[in-house]
Amino acid sequence: MSSPMSASTFLDALKDEGLTVVQVGAWRTHNRNHKGPWGPVNGVMIHHTVTRGTAATVRTCRDGYPSLPGPLCHGVIAKDGRVHLVGYGRTNHAGLGDDDVLRAVVAEKRLPSDNEANTDGNRHFYGFECENLGDGEDPWPPAQLEAIEKAAAAICRHHHWTSRSVIGHREWQPGKVDPRGFSMTAMRARIHDRLK
Ligand SMILES: [Zn+2]
Repeated sequence: MSSPMSASTFLDALKDEGLTVVQVGAWRTHNRNHKGPWGPVNGVMIHHTVTRGTAATVRTCRDGYPSLPGPLCHGVIAKDGRVHLVGYGRTNHAGLGDDDVLRAVVAEKRLPSDNEANTDGNRHFYGFECENLGDGEDPWPPAQLEAIEKAAAAICRHHHWTSRSVIGHREWQPGKVDPRGFSMTAMRARIHDRLK
């Protein structure tokens, strides 16, 4: 359990991990804090966007939809590996998920299956939306996978978490399939190696 980083610390952590960061508008104060709590933070959640094109993807993740207002994450990880910061604080990315999964993330234990939607994830997770159609065919370029690894590792490094604090949306919320096209187990192994 930890207090969230400040926006400046978050930005520095990403840059220190070697990422190229694009700051979008007033990302530091664009959030949903008026709708609920942000923190304590317990982990990092990875998503895919089901969108095509970086500009449109970043815009959607910043602004959201009428039914789901933005920001929809903290950072958008584009196919070229650049991380676009669209919000900071509570964001609409994780929805309701499984309290047993949250307990496992906190304890950094093996994940149980996600079969309940009873816990506010937006309070507890940093979120990265990754530009991908999510059809299982749209490729995940090496630069993008490396950026996912680095972004998650940067946050784990700051909070002294292990790679077990990084989960996919599909491991949190019943019915979700993202991210699709790479293995979260393999991604956690990469993050583990990076944190050594
Ligand atoms: Zn998602």
